[in-house]
Amino acid sequence: MNAYPDCDVAIVHAGAVGEGQGQGVVFDYHVHSTYSVDCVVRMEESCRAAIAAGVTEIAFTDHVDHVPIDPGFGYYRPEEYLGELDRVREQFAGELTVLRGAEIDYNQGTVEVVERFVGEYGREYDFVIGSVHYMPDGAMIFPDYFSDRTEDDVFLPYLDQVQMAVETGWFDTIGHLDLPKRYAPKTHRDYDPARYRERLLPIFDVMIARGVAFEINTSGLRQSPKTSMPGPAIVRWYADRGGALITTGTDSHAAQTVGAGLAKTLDMLDLCGIEAVASFRNRTATQTPISTLRARES
Ligand SMILES: [Zn+2]
Ligand SMILES: [Zn+2]
Repeated sequence: MNAYPDCDVAIVHAGAVGEGQGQGVVFDYHVHSTYSVDCVVRMEESCRAAIAAGVTEIAFTDHVDHVPIDPGFGYYRPEEYLGELDRVREQFAGELTVLRGAEIDYNQGTVEVVERFVGEYGREYDFVIGSVHYMPDGAMIFPDYFSDRTEDDVFLPYLDQVQMAVETGWFDTIGHLDLPKRYAPKTHRDYDPARYRERLLPIFDVMIARGVAFEINTSGLRQSPKTSMPGPAIVRWYADRGGALITTGTDSHAAQTVGAGLAKTLDMLDLCGIEAVASFRNRTATQTPISTLRARES
């Protein structure tokens, strides 16, 4: 089933694969596989698409869901995932770096179970995304949730959850930092990130102090916001605040979108004062200068 409306299962972005070719696109650190309830694409298939798109490192970050009402609750099998990952890693050795990743859903209602998971499996991964998909009242962030609420009603409690996620120190990066914009009505016209600048700055301070990154999630470019999550304004405020740790990912649920929008993202980051993109091994970040990534274009 398609648990996430507007996602890539339903939308095939024509031309996405070609975009990355020879353009120095390297790190796609947010890709789903059959270990996510809302994805039917096998790892092997996405690896082939990654190579065709010019991606050199891919992290399979399947959903680790702990909310009982979530369609993915109980779906993720870490041992099977890790076994499959290692087989695929072996298969593509020399062609593509394949990383052990996870997208762990975090919210205040699941702190204990997430802590247990991180304690048991956290060291097995190269890279872990922390993503908030649920509101404190237990509702999933979906278009319906906005029907009798203002943007502030959604964004402010959402950002509180994000701050809590950062403060745990359990995650290497925060997924789709301004996710509610994806589901807000008329996002492309009405959403103004400046409204949340003052709320974001203390979150950036915690990120910087704890060495937690946030990702540029390019799925927003393909979907209704038509900008990445987050977009340039937020990146600029983060860079101005002294932040430098950014990861990049497409949030692909379809092979066609692996690598999509990453070249554009490098340009955007550069313009916003970010000089490098982070890569990870065994939960440890290394910064690769964007100028180096660009040098691979020739
Ligand atoms: Zn997510
Ligand atoms: Zn995802």
